[in-house]
Amino acid sequence: MKRRDFLATSALAVGAVGLNGCYREEKQDNKKSININRGKTIKLKLATSWPAHFPIMGTGVDDFARRCGELSGGSLEIKVHAKNILVPALQVFDTTSLAQIDVFHSGVYYWKGKNSAFSIFGGMPLGLTSEEMITWLKFGGGMELWRELYGKFNLYPLIGGTTGPQMGGWFKKEISSLADLKGLKMRIPGLGGEVMKKLGVNPVLLPPGEIFTSLERGTIDATEWVGPALDSMMGFAKAANYYYTGWHEPGSILEITFNKNRWEKLSSEHQAIITAVSEEMTSNMLHEFRYKNAKALQELPKSVEIKTFPKDMMDAAKIALQEVLERESSKSNDFKRVLESYNQFATLNKPWDDISTKNFLDIRG
Ligand code: CA
Repeated sequence: MKRRDFLATSALAVGAVGLNGCYREEKQDNKKSININRGKTIKLKLATSWPAHFPIMGTGVDDFARRCGELSGGSLEIKVHAKNILVPALQVFDTTSLAQIDVFHSGVYYWKGKNSAFSIFGGMPLGLTSEEMITWLKFGGGMELWRELYGKFNLYPLIGGTTGPQMGGWFKKEISSLADLKGLKMRIPGLGGEVMKKLGVNPVLLPPGEIFTSLERGTIDATEWVGPALDSMMGFAKAANYYYTGWHEPGSILEITFNKNRWEKLSSEHQAIITAVSEEMTSNMLHEFRYKNAKALQELPKSVEIKTFPKDMMDAAKIALQEVLERESSKSNDFKRVLESYNQFATLNKPWDDISTKNFLDIRG
């Protein structure tokens, strides 16, 4: 918007507020114009699935709220509520859908019970990396599908960060072959858990606060979490010696999701600011995870052995994943459509990735 237009529409906006005493948008010449309402602060309630100021994910949301305030000259005031303050960690989807809160920050794979297709937007075992996921969502049609399907819940999602590659998890005993998995109890959610179940594992869900004690006491035999930076804070190295490299969460996507009506009532300027800051948040989180994981890896106790899962297990995991995807596709047309879009991008991406990134990393050694 040109400055002169902005000043003109701002004057209109002030007039509108003066007349109605409330926030509204104006449309002029088919252009959506207006309006940061001078003197009128838009307050939004944001709830997260994380403890207050939780490293990287939680502090990323704190920064998001602060930056929206800075860039809007204080006209956007987003108050962050840690998990269980306004709503329980895993009810942020429902309460935002019902407009009891305005916006939430969480992990997409938590909502596969709402629609199995949502698990694909959160990332796929043995699938796309964070960088590739973002490319699919932004340029390969993923975001359109995500917004269409979330729209049925009156929600409007934005990418709200990504973890980069996650580790395969902590095991109390070494896994030398597929047979060693039989009967193990492991904390592992999402599609990774579905695959593990087919490999003979008993996947369990535990709240984060109970994982360490369960592992230490042997109530569970293994757990995945994120990567060295966050896993170190959980103290898993004190309860298990074998730390396996990742396969099931190569690029998990987090979300900053608005109540759709609330989003549509925001001015185009506020929408633009929020969209830009969500991009900043995504980039920062990916790079912060990379740096802190690299650092934390160097600081793991000597007792920890880094291992890669045996080939027969990964071969079986690939087959099991295909079975899970076929089963889910046959049960849900949404899952089938999203998977088709995802696969279309993965097929397009692979030859280029093979001769660029993968080839280069092999050469660099
Ligand atoms: Ca994880």
